[in-house]
Amino acid sequence: MDISLTNRLSFKQASLTVLVAFILGTLLSLIQVGIDYASEDASINREIRSLLEISHNPAARIAYNIDAELAQELVLGLLRSPAVIRAEIVDNSGAVLASVNRPPMRSRYRMFSDFLFQERRRFEDPLFVAHAPHEALGVLRLEVDTYAFGSHFLKRAVLTLVTGFARSLLLSLILLVLFYAMLTKPLVGIIRALSERDTRMPARQKIPCPPGHERDEIGILVEVTNRQLANIAEEIEQRREAEDRLTQYLGELENIVSARTAELKATNARLTQSNQELEEARRTALQMAQARAAFLANMSHEIRTPLNGLLGMLALALDGPLNSEQRQQLSIAHGSGEVLVELLNDILDLSKFEAGQLELESIPFDLGVLVEDTASLLSQNAAPGVELTCLIDPQLPIQVLGDPTRVRQIVSNLLSNALKFTRFGRVDVRVRAVANGVEIEIRDTGIGISEEAQERIFQPFAQGSIDITRQYGGTGLGLALTRRLCEAMRGELGLVSKEGFGSRFTARLPLPSHARGTPLPPLHGRVVALCPSSSGLHELLSTLLPSWGLTYLRQDTDAPLASIKGDTFISDCPECLPGLRKVIDSPILLVTAYNRFMDNEQASTLAPLEQMARPLGRAALYQTLRHILQPGVTETPRQSASDKPQSRQARVLLVEDNPVNQMVAKGMLAKLGCDVAVAAHGAEALDYLAREPVDLVLMDCNMPIMDGYEASRRIRQSGRWPDLPIIALTANALPDERERCQAAGMSDYLAKPFRREELAALLDSWLPATATP
Ligand code: ADP
Repeated sequence: MDISLTNRLSFKQASLTVLVAFILGTLLSLIQVGIDYASEDASINREIRSLLEISHNPAARIAYNIDAELAQELVLGLLRSPAVIRAEIVDNSGAVLASVNRPPMRSRYRMFSDFLFQERRRFEDPLFVAHAPHEALGVLRLEVDTYAFGSHFLKRAVLTLVTGFARSLLLSLILLVLFYAMLTKPLVGIIRALSERDTRMPARQKIPCPPGHERDEIGILVEVTNRQLANIAEEIEQRREAEDRLTQYLGELENIVSARTAELKATNARLTQSNQELEEARRTALQMAQARAAFLANMSHEIRTPLNGLLGMLALALDGPLNSEQRQQLSIAHGSGEVLVELLNDILDLSKFEAGQLELESIPFDLGVLVEDTASLLSQNAAPGVELTCLIDPQLPIQVLGDPTRVRQIVSNLLSNALKFTRFGRVDVRVRAVANGVEIEIRDTGIGISEEAQERIFQPFAQGSIDITRQYGGTGLGLALTRRLCEAMRGELGLVSKEGFGSRFTARLPLPSHARGTPLPPLHGRVVALCPSSSGLHELLSTLLPSWGLTYLRQDTDAPLASIKGDTFISDCPECLPGLRKVIDSPILLVTAYNRFMDNEQASTLAPLEQMARPLGRAALYQTLRHILQPGVTETPRQSASDKPQSRQARVLLVEDNPVNQMVAKGMLAKLGCDVAVAAHGAEALDYLAREPVDLVLMDCNMPIMDGYEASRRIRQSGRWPDLPIIALTANALPDERERCQAAGMSDYLAKPFRREELAALLDSWLPATATP
């Protein structure tokens, strides 16, 4: 490792020392020169004075004797002194006795001397004789060239300075050599030893101490460095050992990992295989489920056709003149048939779920009205001691988007259970808008469900207990289906129940709002309800009536009534009415179960009296109150299938091959006031259509010779009857049946077995207004 001279420590140290020595030396030399200067300056005066002293007596005698010759000799003698450049003796009269001079010395350096000592100096010595000191005889004058002294001084000064420099130079050289030998050389040795060390074997190589430095700082530096190097070497050794151990562990780990990887690969392979097997099994299960669904759909077709006949005939028979025993027997037979249809539908739906074939619609519908209609339909199942109430949140959108048929199924299943398992108290259906859709809550005060059963009842064919099965019947399919329906709609079904205290089922469905309702025209008046504060009627009225602008008051049935003023009174207690009528003239609105309506005779004694069936629908209640409170205002009654007159003058062509079904449909259509023509298959229907005008065709789908699909296609293709309503009658429950009918050109769809109300509703929606008188 080469270090340039100027960077060497010895050089730096030597040059610093020399600089200091030089400055000090120069200072000392200058002081010495100064002292020399002062002494030289004084010595000029001293020498000339002593010259004057020596010359004094001869000069005085010469002046006394006025001896010009001697005077000349004396001044010449004085001129011999190298510094004197002019000497003269003047007598007391001012006359010059003798005078000599010579030119001053010339030199390049005299300006320095002149500067220091003046160029020349003049000395005068007054002349007198010893015995007459006060008698002036004249003056001896000398002029001195100071260079004679100054040149000596300058030489000495230069010598002093030059020797000073030479000393410094010598000193610096000596110091440089010394520092090099004492500091730089051993340090360079150490550096070389350090840089030449083998880093792979640090422990073995100690740095040698430069000879003669064992006890000084360099020796200690070497010792400390050796010690540190030993520590580092030890540490490196330890690290190397640790590294070796780590490498060894890593190797072992790699072995373990590769062993595990191999194991995992094997497990993976096994898993992939079992996945494939599972996938295969799933596919097989799905295929089996689809096959089962298809089988069930076909089976149900076969079952539905005779069922349709059975139910239709029973319904027709029930409309005829019967004694009460026969009516009861036929009603039971009809009811059992309907249960059979429901069971069939549930099994079909469940199998559709399992086969992944359930398709949901997304169309706008009025959820509030749907719930009220369903509740009203099921209200006949309510026990006499049960108050069924529909509490629809006024904030609920008038229309939501979803599948109304499936929502109806959910409400219907939950509500029929609630009514089935409740003997006393209340059954409430609450519908409200929530953050992501709607919440339908069905709450009852019935027998409740034990905690253990709550887990089970959502499984197909599971019921609360054997006792329940024995006492209440049922299939155990309703809740399983309801939960799956809710989940299929991406909603959820919750249950809170306590045995003996009732149950609360909550279906949360994400049905988006489609349209909001416009507020109804406000009503004016004061309505007093006579019912307990715990009743559903009170809860319903207290929400609805104020929102319609009415003043609402409630009184307990046994409270004194004479003092209460009201424009109308609402009561749910038929027995209380005679007493009430005695003290009150205002109209009374009686709200009871449908089968507890008063007969006309009874009602006329309590007039003015209106009767409404439970559960109260919002629209019907509004219209009734408007009728009572504002009798002058023209009503805009809500059109519904059941409100319409039952007689129609429409001409309906029934295309049906099964004679029993022909009889059933014909009977129902006749009851609905239609003029019916029958065709046994599609071809016959086409012939008939070509001959006779027809308002609507009821078309069975599966028929010999020409089926309903083909017949419909031909009717549409002919172009003669583009707007003729063709309603498919089908017992086929396959999922794509509706689309198949539409594709064939049919307008609507009615599944067999159908009820007269369903047929009436269809006729109402498809027959032109003129067909209804
Ligand atoms: P089903 O009613 O035809 O037996 P579900 O699946 O509808 O079949 O109901 C299964 C069981 O759940 C019923 O048997 C009954 O034990 C219990 N359950 C359902 N709803 C209620 C309710 N509201 N109150 C008491 N128990 C109920």
